[in-house]
Amino acid sequence: MIAFENDRVKETVSKKGKCTWIKNPLACWTGNSQDASNGMVICDNIIVELVAAGNTPITQYQQTFDASAHVILPGLINCHHHFYQTLTRALPNALNKELFPWLQALYPVWANLNDDAIFASTQLALSELLLSGCTTAADHHYVFSSIMPHAIDAQVAAAKTIGNRVTLTRGSMSLGQSKGGLPPDSVVETDEKILGESERLINTYHDSSEESFCQIALAPCSPFSVTPDLMRETAKLSQQKNVLLHTHLGETEDENDFCLEKFGMRPVDYLEDVGWLNDRTWLAHGIHFNDDEVKRLGHACTGICHCPSSNMLLASGMCRTLDLRSAGARVGLGVDGSASNDGSNMIQEVRQAMLLQKLRYGSAKFSHHDALTMATRGSATLLHRKELGEIAVGKQADIALYSLDEPRFSGYGDAVAALILCGATKADHVMVAGEWKVKNGVMVDVDIHEIMARHRIAADRLVQQF
Ligand SMILES: [Zn+2]
Repeated sequence: MIAFENDRVKETVSKKGKCTWIKNPLACWTGNSQDASNGMVICDNIIVELVAAGNTPITQYQQTFDASAHVILPGLINCHHHFYQTLTRALPNALNKELFPWLQALYPVWANLNDDAIFASTQLALSELLLSGCTTAADHHYVFSSIMPHAIDAQVAAAKTIGNRVTLTRGSMSLGQSKGGLPPDSVVETDEKILGESERLINTYHDSSEESFCQIALAPCSPFSVTPDLMRETAKLSQQKNVLLHTHLGETEDENDFCLEKFGMRPVDYLEDVGWLNDRTWLAHGIHFNDDEVKRLGHACTGICHCPSSNMLLASGMCRTLDLRSAGARVGLGVDGSASNDGSNMIQEVRQAMLLQKLRYGSAKFSHHDALTMATRGSATLLHRKELGEIAVGKQADIALYSLDEPRFSGYGDAVAALILCGATKADHVMVAGEWKVKNGVMVDVDIHEIMARHRIAADRLVQQF
């Protein structure tokens, strides 16, 4: 039994005195080697004690929560999304296409997004994630236009209403079609505007504390939609402000061809050339790297967010997650945007990662534990949130509880394996920072039907304008 291991934990117990024993779970997957078979004690927003098999807590607690019908996981962490794409799921014009033609079909629709649509889509996507057991999510928003000047401000406001922790990235596109880029000129901005807004958003919203609910990162969209100058200036700003960097890289062979033709080098060389090959950066997808590039990414401790559903839907390829991890890279998991998944369900994404990586490496080489680790501690390392992603003393109290009382689980052997192999789709209870945000499958703070109604109106308006 481990309790009162550090000063912060002692302080939490003595200061607040509001402690709950989450007791006797069906199973508790901690994400580390520690035993929490009899649950954990949570005081305020911190996990203060793990209760091993056969034990009871030594911490004084005021309440108990009976988890005997539940499998407990650390809250899942989604490292790559485009919340606005929930408004363009399964759009007929974008179906059955690979990345470049898929993007070209969607850019003109996204050019009509406005701040209200961003607010509604952020609420919807975060709700969907939370209901699947996801307590922290990163979003990559890179479409800005004159009718959508305050997209990130709208996202910050929307996220507060739902209750997940977020890393919101100020994305950007600066290389329009007229200059040889992929996006239409109507959705690109000047470097000056992008950098000025990036700085304003960091100064206004970035909270670097362990308890943080909102962090800002900087995220030029991809090599084929921004200039190398913007990449360099963004890297400098991120260093000055001590925030993270995010972009798409290594998603398709088309991107490799584009980089060779436009910049005379492959994407990882490009990344190094613009000052991004370091441990401040996390990349979405990271599929088409050769052995030398995998080694260099590992040496730099760069982060890679695996997005299996999107990679399968757009037929982009299979990420070399185990090679990257062995080389020293950090590897996490993301659902990617809802126009290429088209759902935002993190527990389902864990299953997709397990299936695709088994196919890539062989069944014995990649287990459900590997997939869960990717979606928890792995993702936490991508976002530099060491206080999240596992159930351990001193960590933030972010947990997801799943019931196995459904036909799909009937007859199971191992409870944790069943959760992933039988295909869980929803969490029963979800806690963020010690507060229940989902109870009995229902969101505590908001009316999901009201959010869905506004989201539907925003989606209809967007497609009608197109
Ligand atoms: Zn993406």
